Amino acid sequence: MENHASVQTAELLQQVKKLLKNTPNMIEAVAFESLKLQFKLTDLQLVHILINELNQFSIAPISDFHVIAIALEQTDIGSRIYFGANLEFDKQALSLVVHAEQSAIHNAWLHGAKKIDILAINEAPCGFCRQFINEIPTQLQPKIFLNAQLTNFSDYLPNSFGPADLNIEQPFMSTLKKAETLEEQCFASYAPYTGNQSACEITLDDGHTVFGRYIENAAFNPSLSPLQAALNQVQLYLGCSGYEQITAIRVMQSRAHANQEGITRAITQMICPEINVEFDYY
Ligand SMILES: [Zn+2]
Repeated sequence: MENHASVQTAELLQQVKKLLKNTPNMIEAVAFESLKLQFKLTDLQLVHILINELNQFSIAPISDFHVIAIALEQTDIGSRIYFGANLEFDKQALSLVVHAEQSAIHNAWLHGAKKIDILAINEAPCGFCRQFINEIPTQLQPKIFLNAQLTNFSDYLPNSFGPADLNIEQPFMSTLKKAETLEEQCFASYAPYTGNQSACEITLDDGHTVFGRYIENAAFNPSLSPLQAALNQVQLYLGCSGYEQITAIRVMQSRAHANQEGITRAITQMICPEINVEFDYY
């Protein structure tokens, strides 16, 4: 019986890896539903296998602690999933690290998810991530799926501090803006505390372009910078850091009480010093 199960899992993973060649950071609803039917699995059973078996995304040269997260959005035609993984920068400050939960949420939001119904993780969410998730307003907060158990997010963060405490009228993910160009990504970013609307575009040597959108947080520190977000998209696209494949980086932002230029220059000088980052203001 166990042998049969492991053969099934191996087959499933093989098919998932094939799908990821076309859509590297997500699985569309039609494909996800077809996997469920073929392998006789529920949403949660399938997601459980993927977060525990699919380890190709995480980059953790410092901690060797690999975290995978999946944001699941239920739609009219079935469930769609978006991957997320932690990203560490070797020999650099720990404050640059992107956590898997941030990665999955940004990935889903960037690609048009209207909501996240379930956030599945292979390790318990740290305090930083609980605060990051809390930027999503209560009525839209995902359920957390951990150790095969589904729990309300509010159980993870009682007496929380969030956007409602600062009277934010349009919290994170409460409005959806379609964005294709860097300028549109910039307008679609989430910067209610500083007004520093910003986004980053990274071009790779195969011509592929990824974006990263700024996400601010009521507690400030768990904010995700546009460059971190875009580098995380490179990671989800290539399955590796791929810094040597970067040919151009552009950052667009508004002038405000926060600014992305200093941190972007500092990070790029460390990881791809030959790239001249282009900064645009509007
Ligand atoms: Zn975390």
